[in-house]
Amino acid sequence: MDIYMIILFFMIGTIFGSFYHVVGYRLPKGESIVNPKHSYCPNCGKQLAWYELIPIVSYVIQFGKCRNCHHTISIFYPFIEFVTGLLFAVCYYSFGISYDLIIALTLVSLFSIVIVSDLNYMIIPNEVIFACAFIILVVNFFNLGIKDGFLQLGSGLITFLVMYLIMLLGSFLFKREALGGADVKLMLIAGLVLHPVLGIFVIFIASCIALPVSILIYLISKEHMIPFGPFLVAGILLLFLLKIDMNTLVQLFKF
Ligand SMILES: [Zn+2]
Repeated sequence: MDIYMIILFFMIGTIFGSFYHVVGYRLPKGESIVNPKHSYCPNCGKQLAWYELIPIVSYVIQFGKCRNCHHTISIFYPFIEFVTGLLFAVCYYSFGISYDLIIALTLVSLFSIVIVSDLNYMIIPNEVIFACAFIILVVNFFNLGIKDGFLQLGSGLITFLVMYLIMLLGSFLFKREALGGADVKLMLIAGLVLHPVLGIFVIFIASCIALPVSILIYLISKEHMIPFGPFLVAGILLLFLLKIDMNTLVQLFKF
């Protein structure tokens, strides 16, 4: 495994992470995501020069402050850039150059955008979910062939439908929304990359990750409304990265 390639994937990931922050932050507000002229300080509105847009590096050099108004820049920016870079590197390390790498990178992209948009607005833009689903669908057909490509599409639809029914049942029983509509749409992605049974297993994994993280966030910030979307995508990504299939699951429950 070439260490230079891993570093390269990390660097590419930080650039994508920077873009995903823009997407997750602006798309729910209906702002442009493609016009680079519109990169500005959220406090004073000053447009940023190219050297203020270098992922992580700019933040460190400027000591986390805007050069114009000295307003503190959220640590969230370099955090998303770093996490995306790290996950890009991990994906390359796990899959090498392959179809699975494209799927893994698509899941990481979804993860980064969902963290930003769901934490800021409790919204996951439909465009993002459907764009990811489309990319995965196309890669599946190239990777698996027509027949298995359609099987995987069926798996996505089944996982989505099961979750939709669970959501309806939950709303009926508890008289309140147990799962958000966006969470159900994310399950389409789960089914497209995993076996449908594993798709449902994602909810269990996501809950296992969400519980300690939610407690931690509550202890630090007293925030108790924490969106479930990022944990769902984290669960999908984790199962995909660990290459867990039905056999592994069966073995796991034998003991
Ligand atoms: Zn500023």
